[in-house]
Amino acid sequence: MAPKPIKGINPFRGQDILSVKQFDRENLRYLFGLAEEMRIIVERVGHSNLLQGKVMASLFYEPSTRTSSSFIAAMSRLGGAVIPINEVVYSSVTKGESLPDTVRTLESYADVIVLRHPEVGSAAVAAHYCEKPIINAGDGVGEHPTQALLDLFTIEEDHNRVDGLSVAMVGDLKYGRTVHSLTRLLSLYNVKFYFVSPEILRMPPELIEEVKQKGLEYEELEDVSQVIDKADVLYVTRVQKERFTDLAQYDAVKDYYVITPEIMKRAKQTMTVMHPLPRVGEISYAVDADPRASYFRQMKNGMYVRMALLTAVLGRA
Ligand code: ASP
Repeated sequence: MAPKPIKGINPFRGQDILSVKQFDRENLRYLFGLAEEMRIIVERVGHSNLLQGKVMASLFYEPSTRTSSSFIAAMSRLGGAVIPINEVVYSSVTKGESLPDTVRTLESYADVIVLRHPEVGSAAVAAHYCEKPIINAGDGVGEHPTQALLDLFTIEEDHNRVDGLSVAMVGDLKYGRTVHSLTRLLSLYNVKFYFVSPEILRMPPELIEEVKQKGLEYEELEDVSQVIDKADVLYVTRVQKERFTDLAQYDAVKDYYVITPEIMKRAKQTMTVMHPLPRVGEISYAVDADPRASYFRQMKNGMYVRMALLTAVLGRA
């Protein structure tokens, strides 16, 4: 079932947010404008009552730090309330309750459900059974649309543009849902892609096909040093250990890339280094002090973008 395209005056009102395929440049502009307003609200007064009386259920079947806490913080700063269900260990899911029954329960209490689940397509399944909007907070190796939104918002903020940039995605391009969503979202712009990964972790063929269909330039490589002086954005990812069935394969690739201050010397002065986090060694801590390290800006922006999305989806924008 294809997710609905997002159109109209407040194009997000009442919509499920399942895939970045729902976005276009126009509705992104609307959302990012709203996110800028959210930043001003937080910086000036810390909170507002835009979502007073609204309830968000936060249903996480997989671990999360940034996504879950920034959604909860977003809702709290807008005066709304949260039903937090983390890793579903204390819920009836451990008694064998199905996803459809769980979301049908939560929609009786909440106005919107934020869902993270290990299976690709789970958010679409949940949306099928649920009248209230579902926001996909990661469906296995599928997509992570809200991460891509905050990534794009940060790229635009750091570079003042998106068109014309060269973006290198590095690491686990096979299992990394963040790079899947970000590649799709960036394909709305005129960007050049460098997909840098070990052979066994290459970008899935369907995503390469989508990039080709858009007529965008891309290269697939194995060595970061071939692109470090060309990239405007270096988007580094963790090798997704939890997706491997053979841990020997994971061990073989886990330390493939480490971005160090030494490597950074060859990068453009304007290049930014991004990472969805958590990092487990791919970016050395010594890079954190480099002004080109953008991953802390990225996580902060996550809350503003999620505040904007919740406000829009709940029809209070
Ligand atoms: N936090 C991101 C995700 O949930 C990235 C990662 O886990 O590596 O996909």
